[in-house]
Amino acid sequence: MAQRILEPGQIETLAQRSIPHIRLPVRAQLFARRAARLRELAPVAAIGDYLQFIAAIADAQHAALKGFAATMPDQLQLDSAAGNGMPPILGASGARPPEWRDVLDTICAEISGKDEFPPGVDAIVARIQHAPEQWIQAQADAMLAARHAVIDQAAAPMIMAALQVCWAALASGFVADNVTALDVAGVCPLCGSLPVASMICANSPYQGYRYLHCGLCATEWHMVRALCSHCGASGKSVGYHYLDSDSKDKSIGTQGADAVRAESCEQCRSYRKIVYQEKYPDVEPLADDLASLALDLLLCEHGYHRASGNPMLWQPDES
Ligand SMILES: [Zn+2]
Ligand SMILES: [Zn+2]
Repeated sequence: MAQRILEPGQIETLAQRSIPHIRLPVRAQLFARRAARLRELAPVAAIGDYLQFIAAIADAQHAALKGFAATMPDQLQLDSAAGNGMPPILGASGARPPEWRDVLDTICAEISGKDEFPPGVDAIVARIQHAPEQWIQAQADAMLAARHAVIDQAAAPMIMAALQVCWAALASGFVADNVTALDVAGVCPLCGSLPVASMICANSPYQGYRYLHCGLCATEWHMVRALCSHCGASGKSVGYHYLDSDSKDKSIGTQGADAVRAESCEQCRSYRKIVYQEKYPDVEPLADDLASLALDLLLCEHGYHRASGNPMLWQPDES
């Protein structure tokens, strides 16, 4: 019997077809898992108090998302976005569900008055609660457009938390198979935001594949491994860095050096972190990225810059 031999290009094409392109956020799990992971990492992380604070925000996000009914774009809006090659729920469009302000109020109320946080946290919450509406909306616009210079770094995590709830609600209303890939592989196909990190997945049908994790809507999209997620360079341009078990930041050392790595690129001199669910089932891209600041310092020492920031830690030098 004659056997059909596939050429290498054909094999790759067939393989690509069978890989699920999109992983949508699961409303009941997203923020609860993030909170749990942050609390798991906090006792051994260099910024443990901050991780506890973000975990409390994630709790509030989980509660807010439960009751949040997202108004999905209609077919006309979806067709228009697709026709223009744009993501259907673009974060930087300037349009957002008005209900996001209620979510922000809920998050502020949840955080306010808790004994476990330093007094400064209450002052930040009060500042948001009494801020002019125009300022709040301008801060949201600046974050969604990543205009770092005008972002209030102290207030940003809570404002971003409310936006994440809205966009996660929207994203979870899509059907993964119906989400169209964009021409630009490094941005979220649903909201156009940048990924915070990527993850090598452990469970079927995603096992062994790498997914980029959106910092806004938490959608994950497939990108082949060993490829720079910022500029697309491959081969020898891509390198991996991790902290050994002697690191001062035990959030890396106690889990094994291979839970989180930084993928760097010689072409664009940037990096993003990769978390390995295969070895550590509870890893969560945003939480593990936030907890591994020592790795950022290492990459900075080597002259690399972050391809994109962590949405729960805004810094002025990322503009
Ligand atoms: Zn997104
Ligand atoms: Zn690159």
